[in-house]
Amino acid sequence: MKLNQSPVTQHQFDGISFHLKRDDQLHPLFSGNKARKFSTLLEYPSDSVETIISYGSAQANSLYSLAGLAKIKGWKLEYYVHNVPQWLRKNPIGNFRGALELDAKVIGMNEIDTSLHPADYIEQVRKPNDKCLVLPEGGRSKLSEDGVKQLADELLDYIRFHPGSHFTIALPSGTGTTSLYLHKHLKSHNIQVITCPVVGGKDYLIEQFKELGESDFPTILEPEEKHHFGRLYQEDYEVWAQLEEQTHVEFDLLYDPLMWRCIRQWASHNLDGELLYVHQGGILGNESMQLRYQREFGVKSTW
Ligand SMILES: *Cc1c(COP(=O)(O)O)cnc(C)c1O
Repeated sequence: MKLNQSPVTQHQFDGISFHLKRDDQLHPLFSGNKARKFSTLLEYPSDSVETIISYGSAQANSLYSLAGLAKIKGWKLEYYVHNVPQWLRKNPIGNFRGALELDAKVIGMNEIDTSLHPADYIEQVRKPNDKCLVLPEGGRSKLSEDGVKQLADELLDYIRFHPGSHFTIALPSGTGTTSLYLHKHLKSHNIQVITCPVVGGKDYLIEQFKELGESDFPTILEPEEKHHFGRLYQEDYEVWAQLEEQTHVEFDLLYDPLMWRCIRQWASHNLDGELLYVHQGGILGNESMQLRYQREFGVKSTW
């Protein structure tokens, strides 16, 4: 199985016109940038793997994407998490619920009474055999390059339909894997990739880029104030709600608001030509993010 091309739509946000690559619409079970990053695994022979083993947060987008991949391929998914709170086990929401519905086995270190880090538990106690495929947290791996290159090729196909226009590609970074490989495959076409660090700051993002063995990086925009990953910011929520109001598209609430805040600052002085934003999915995760925002700020729910 291969992924179909995702569509591109056109919108305006706060006076900025942009094109939107809809990777949120790649596939019902397997979408967003995690699907791009894991897409090479779609081509593995189904009988070469029995169980995917990975770890990360209980609400990670990669948890749901890996559950979708396992379902499509007829594999099992075992996913290790530091802490699965009791309330979540009783009332699953968001990516956690989606993954359980796809038969993923999510194991909290707190639930099996171990103080080991999930990665150490997998190696020392679970001891994967040769029918297991162990994947790093969030798909931070060279394995992701082919799938992201496919995305770069689709963007180039789209851009070729607009001769004479100069395009800038925008997307937020977590591990930076997606923005780095997009940059790698677009720079020879003279297309700039801009990103912002959502986890840690600029220096941390550059460290992550280097760990993937590259030495040439996308352009990094930074917010005016320090931003902490996973923390709630009223301004992020407002930008997210305004985006939906103005574009009629639901964006991700964890990564996208910060990128749009950076773009708003940047665009007035620097945007020359067309902006193409990559929607990297993550919509199911909004369910748990919105619940947190409601608890913290009492903001109105839109669902
Ligand atoms: C994982 C994720 C990102 C970050 O991707 P990286 O390749 O780790 O930089 C951004 N947006 C969404 C919606 C994601 O799920």
